[in-house]
Amino acid sequence: MKIVFGADHGGYELKQALVAEFSKTAETVDCGCGGKDSCDYPDFADDACEALIEGRADFAILVCTTGEGMSMSANRFHGVRAALCTDAGTARSTRAHNDANALVLGAANVSVEKALEIARAFVETPFSAGERHVRRIAKIDRAKRLAECSALAEYDPEVHAAVLAQIRQEDTEINLIASENTSSRAVRAASGSVLMNKYAEGYPAHRWYSGCLPVDAVEELARTRACALFGAEHANVQPHCGSAANMAVYLACLEPGDKILSLSLDQGGHLSHGSPVNFSGKLYKIVPYTTNRETERIDYGELEKLALAEKPRLLLSGASAYPRSLDFKRIREIVDKTTAAMKAENPDSPGCIMMVDMAHIAGLVAGGAHESPVPYADFVTTTTHKTLRGPRGGLVLCKKEWAKKLDSAVFPGMQGGPLENIIAGKAVCFKEAASPEFAAYARQVVANCKAMCETIASRGYRIVSGGTDNHLFLVDVKSSKGITGKDAAAALDAAGIVVNKNTIPFDSESPFRTSGIRIGTASVTTRGMKEEECRKIGGWIADILDDISDLSVQSRVKELAAALTAGFPVP
Ligand SMILES: *Cc1c(COP(=O)(O)O)cnc(C)c1O
Repeated sequence: MKIVFGADHGGYELKQALVAEFSKTAETVDCGCGGKDSCDYPDFADDACEALIEGRADFAILVCTTGEGMSMSANRFHGVRAALCTDAGTARSTRAHNDANALVLGAANVSVEKALEIARAFVETPFSAGERHVRRIAKIDRAKRLAECSALAEYDPEVHAAVLAQIRQEDTEINLIASENTSSRAVRAASGSVLMNKYAEGYPAHRWYSGCLPVDAVEELARTRACALFGAEHANVQPHCGSAANMAVYLACLEPGDKILSLSLDQGGHLSHGSPVNFSGKLYKIVPYTTNRETERIDYGELEKLALAEKPRLLLSGASAYPRSLDFKRIREIVDKTTAAMKAENPDSPGCIMMVDMAHIAGLVAGGAHESPVPYADFVTTTTHKTLRGPRGGLVLCKKEWAKKLDSAVFPGMQGGPLENIIAGKAVCFKEAASPEFAAYARQVVANCKAMCETIASRGYRIVSGGTDNHLFLVDVKSSKGITGKDAAAALDAAGIVVNKNTIPFDSESPFRTSGIRIGTASVTTRGMKEEECRKIGGWIADILDDISDLSVQSRVKELAAALTAGFPVP
């Protein structure tokens, strides 16, 4: 057993006595103070609590005159549960019920003998680990997620109110937006950290500013973790978002005017894949491909024909609203055949490049629930905030031969200083995504999606492509019920179920109205929901869409949704 001690001048003598006694039976670390000169208790509480939360000690024992100051200081630390005790019975209870890990003593209120008795009782009592105690401690740590933004309340009540509103919304609504997720506390802690204060133009060990050692360490961690997680040869973790990641790839390997073959936006592609209103559509010559009208899936034979006819410099796959698995091996074949055809025509042709934007499915790829594009593609881009569940941001993976060009395209090509705080959040995210728990999560996301999709299909709704292989599916509400995606989404929203309207392949409605809605299960799965809850939610969705003018269904579901979400706290 390892115990760390801290005291101010008021607790110095008692602390000395405790250290002397416990040194006989346990490993002790004395953080001070070292004498009776007046000093500040938070300094010693901080040192002892850091040792405790970093795992350098099993327990902390803190002493000041009353114990109150030490107690307040220690309980500021996430993961520290400090208990001020005046008798051995309380010490035993707080260990058994609260899993207290810091004992606080007031030197003015207990004798040395009494203090020793309390301290022994404390360290010798195990946590009972009863279900209700575990639940309550989780609530302390979570503090209804309010504690982590409480500093804002004092400085900026208006921004604080907006953050609280988001917290309440996440807590009480069922979020089925396929591109969203709920990040962990650790990701948020890194993303909001002081690393945001640092300018670090350049790359680790090659910066334009001094003082970059801490951010170098964090960026190196993010890069190496990204490479290990996806089995990539090179990673650039600096792109501010998914669109920026795509821009970096185009800048690295294309000239303005070069031809890109990509899935069109109304078929599930992304703005940054060549929409006329986006930089990609303005700078490059875009040839869109579509899904097959019958199957609503990508027809690789058709894609091959188109690629051989068009000879694009870049073949881009990946989508924002495609419910089916992508066959990366087959796409590589198409790219290789296209390159061969280009070289046959012109031996100096650089050929066709394979790029995959896995923004939506990156978490499934990381968790082994979707085939990885990394072995096949020259470039793989992604966001880090969708199924991957990290901070909002972008990432590019590439083959070694493109590493230099890619890095120069990101900086100095298109961005200034990287967001090192967000890069730290990405590093945490990659660590989480490499865990066995995350692999189970990824599988559950897909299982949940199938369950919800099957329930809605069984109620007579047409599902685009007939089902789903991943974390999302599209419901054709127009052909099923004669309503638009816009009206369907509004009715669900009124019941606390958040989805988005979405075009379906060959949509007859405008992109503003749409014939479809897009539904995803990444976020509800993060909350711990399983197939049973997803079937329930699917049933509610069908109940509402069966008659969107029936407001009583919406208010009934809203109550049911609030009751369901209460049992699945957001992390
Ligand atoms: C979400 C998404 C992006 C863009 O992400 P931003 O971070 O919003 O720029 C790029 N590509 C695809 C396929 C996406 O789904």
